[in-house]
Amino acid sequence: MTSTQLAPAYADILIDERFGALELESGADVECIRTFGDGRADGSRADAADLGGKGAALAEMTNLGVPVPPGFTITCRMCDEYLAAGVMPAPVSSRLDAAIRGIERSTGKGFGDPSNPLLVSVRSGAAVSMPGMLETVLNLGLNDETVAGLAEASHDARFAHDAYRRFLQMYGSIVLGVDAEKFETMLAAARRHFGAATDAEIPEPGLRQLVEAFKDTICRATGGAGVPSDPREQLVSAIEAVWRSWRLKKAVDYRRVNAIPDEPGTAVSVVAMVFGNLDAESGTGVAFTRNPSTGEPGLFGEFLSCAQGEDVVAGIRTPAPIATMEWTLPQAYKDLIRVQALLERHYTDMQDIEFTVERGRLFVLQTRVGKRAPGAALRIAADLAHEGIIDSEEAVRRVAPAQLDRVMHAVIDGSAVTAPVCVGLPASPGAGSGIAVFDPDEAERRAMSGDSVILVREETSPEDFHGIVAATALVTARGGMTSHGAVVARGMGKCAVVGCRDVSVDIKRRQLVGDTGVIAQGDWMTVDGGTGKVYAGNLPTVPSEVMRVLAGEMHAIDSKTYAAFRDVLGWADATARMKVRANADTPRDARIARRAGAQGIGLCRTEHMFFEGDRIGAMREMIVARSADERRRALARIMPMQRDDFQEIFSAMDGYPVTIRLLDPPLHEFLPRGAFEVDAMAESLHTDAESLRRRLEALREANPMLGHRGCRLGVTYPEITAMQAQAIFEAARAVKLEGMDVQPEIMVPLVASAHEFEHQRAIIVDTARKVLGPLHQAIPYQVGVMIELPRAALTAGAIARTADFFSFGTNDLTQTTLGVSRDDAGSFLPAYVAQGMLAADPFTTLDLDGVGALVAMASHRGRAARPTLKLGACGEHAGDARSIRFFDSIGLDYVSCSPYRVPLARLAVAHASQEAEWVR
Ligand code: PEP
Ligand code: MG
Repeated sequence: MTSTQLAPAYADILIDERFGALELESGADVECIRTFGDGRADGSRADAADLGGKGAALAEMTNLGVPVPPGFTITCRMCDEYLAAGVMPAPVSSRLDAAIRGIERSTGKGFGDPSNPLLVSVRSGAAVSMPGMLETVLNLGLNDETVAGLAEASHDARFAHDAYRRFLQMYGSIVLGVDAEKFETMLAAARRHFGAATDAEIPEPGLRQLVEAFKDTICRATGGAGVPSDPREQLVSAIEAVWRSWRLKKAVDYRRVNAIPDEPGTAVSVVAMVFGNLDAESGTGVAFTRNPSTGEPGLFGEFLSCAQGEDVVAGIRTPAPIATMEWTLPQAYKDLIRVQALLERHYTDMQDIEFTVERGRLFVLQTRVGKRAPGAALRIAADLAHEGIIDSEEAVRRVAPAQLDRVMHAVIDGSAVTAPVCVGLPASPGAGSGIAVFDPDEAERRAMSGDSVILVREETSPEDFHGIVAATALVTARGGMTSHGAVVARGMGKCAVVGCRDVSVDIKRRQLVGDTGVIAQGDWMTVDGGTGKVYAGNLPTVPSEVMRVLAGEMHAIDSKTYAAFRDVLGWADATARMKVRANADTPRDARIARRAGAQGIGLCRTEHMFFEGDRIGAMREMIVARSADERRRALARIMPMQRDDFQEIFSAMDGYPVTIRLLDPPLHEFLPRGAFEVDAMAESLHTDAESLRRRLEALREANPMLGHRGCRLGVTYPEITAMQAQAIFEAARAVKLEGMDVQPEIMVPLVASAHEFEHQRAIIVDTARKVLGPLHQAIPYQVGVMIELPRAALTAGAIARTADFFSFGTNDLTQTTLGVSRDDAGSFLPAYVAQGMLAADPFTTLDLDGVGALVAMASHRGRAARPTLKLGACGEHAGDARSIRFFDSIGLDYVSCSPYRVPLARLAVAHASQEAEWVR
């Protein structure tokens, strides 16, 4: 670094002053403190890894000409050095005085100057935003002399003493570790004594008394040491306290949940104070450039007049909507409108801006990419692309698969809604029911034992974070849309209602007392984060707006979220290499899948067509048949049902492939359970119950999942395969004759060897010839294999010689590769994941090293034997974003997942293609 790269206000200090000039020669020392002010900054947004998000934003905004108070940022690495050594790193302490002098020059004030004191804030700011998790100290530089100077300079003794009591309170609790409750209790007593509704109404004598009381309390708590009066000493201790806050439990928890690394630690920005608590022309606020709950364009936020710093975020007073500034502070509002538009365009994303107005003048203290609800993420991405701020590929990248998933979640069923117990601000959309819990630890305990819990608090603080993580939804009595609870819940996609009016939350008695009732700990309650209403009881929910459009229950033009959903996914499809199909077993599923954007069906589990109504009877009859004749009679009942279903499914998927899997019923899922069902079945079969019982006993298997299922049924009872092939081809013929494009793909399940497949394929090809006759050429069907046993993967080369396609059944492949039962793993898998023996549940995210290696090998061997072999995956993993990335990397042609996960998969497939593009 050279002096020419430094902001001029500071460069000359370094050159003029002996030690500054010397420091310049050892680059590392200079770089540990980076300055901003007077329209020039030593750094930019590209330096977020060194300066933290806040420090980089302050530098960038300074360069942009946004009104930012002057200051400097100590780089993140210094936090690591301090935490390792326990003392302030030498390069920081040696540079601190020069850096402070820079702020003094810019502001014309003196640090510790009793006649015109400079006050600073000491702010945390990690490379990845951790809202509310780290500490900040404001109004630093005050002592008994400088407070008088501040009163004089501002012509406002009340303001000066308000700033002093705030400083003592923050410094006392954050730096010296005095119990914060003590200060709150004294404040509450002062409010009562002076009849003040808020702290802003406590008169000057009250503030003076509070200052003395706070000093006394701190003195006693620190064994007589108290708050140092030397501002430099204050500054060093405050910087160290901010560094230490990196290790607070709430911060560590937040990093764990959000996968943020522990190193580097937080940067610290020391910034000249501007005062929102100076007078009625002053205040502090948080502004979003778009509505973070809905994505609606336009400035959105809150403003607290005559307030400072953390008041808005802490949710201690309920702020006014930001639009009120247009009348109360018109110039500052105009400036804010200009600045927010500039920042959004510059950063090309929705911004969350913290600002202060001092005597009508706007100062911006921070800008960062705003956290948003999942639906808002979708809408903002689409709108920014339509407005030309980002391109459509970037819009696709801006939405995470998990956010898309949340958009497709339920809300409370309107018909079930009674009078709410209370109403608050709709801080984070979605609906959730659970047991009311009033304590975050209890919420965590209950959630771990499997309960759905709603965390109810007076207001939240970062200490509640683990409780919010554990809860299904959050309700608070106080706080605004930008208060801690609202921001955290929205970021997690959890529904939340904050700032409930006319509600008291009694933490001691563990109950919420609302307008029309009381909810006590352990009671069921339901929260609607979209409307802000809180209900007693466990109310039923209905699907999301997007889901309603997809289900044909709502017009697409009535939903802005759906419009964004459609646009973003359309752009996603345009960049995607793999196709996305759906696992759909019924005509209804097929229709939903098509609306969700599925490009075909990758798995139709034909046995699932028999779960409903009286159909299971025909299936049972087929299973318990003792002879081929009996079985043929049962199959003759089943055939028309299957054919009609296939016909509807083919119609719904006109122009797309439909993979129909031959029967694969693990027998136990279909056989009657208990005496009552056995007797009923005997009656319907006109047989005696005793002999039926004996037959069922004979069919019983110790391991049905490894038993007489899949192609083993078709090998031992070829008439089943013939019946299914007949139903498929008759349906295909009928649909083709109606003028539609039908592309049947018949898949043979649980194949272990090429012999099994050959056997089944011969029956299918023979039936096709008989049924299709002259249409044989016009209906280009395919016959393929479900690869779901390790032996099939190992012998993929031999199997591929006659197979048109492979589809990986990763559910069974995981079960048989790991030797872990799909149905019984719950007793130990969570412990394996918790102990890190498995990175994730292998039935959710593909075990890449084991199952993934088999899939890759089978794909490779299959394609080597038959280069045109089509490859897909249809286990649950085909709807999991991380597994999808892997399937893309090994060249699969498609993934197939449940209709409700199709949108998520379309997005994940596009992300995988874009990543692959960059790698190339
Ligand atoms: C599989 O095994 O991955 C699969 C999709 O089939 P099923 O879940 O029906 O066994
Ligand atoms: Mg299977």
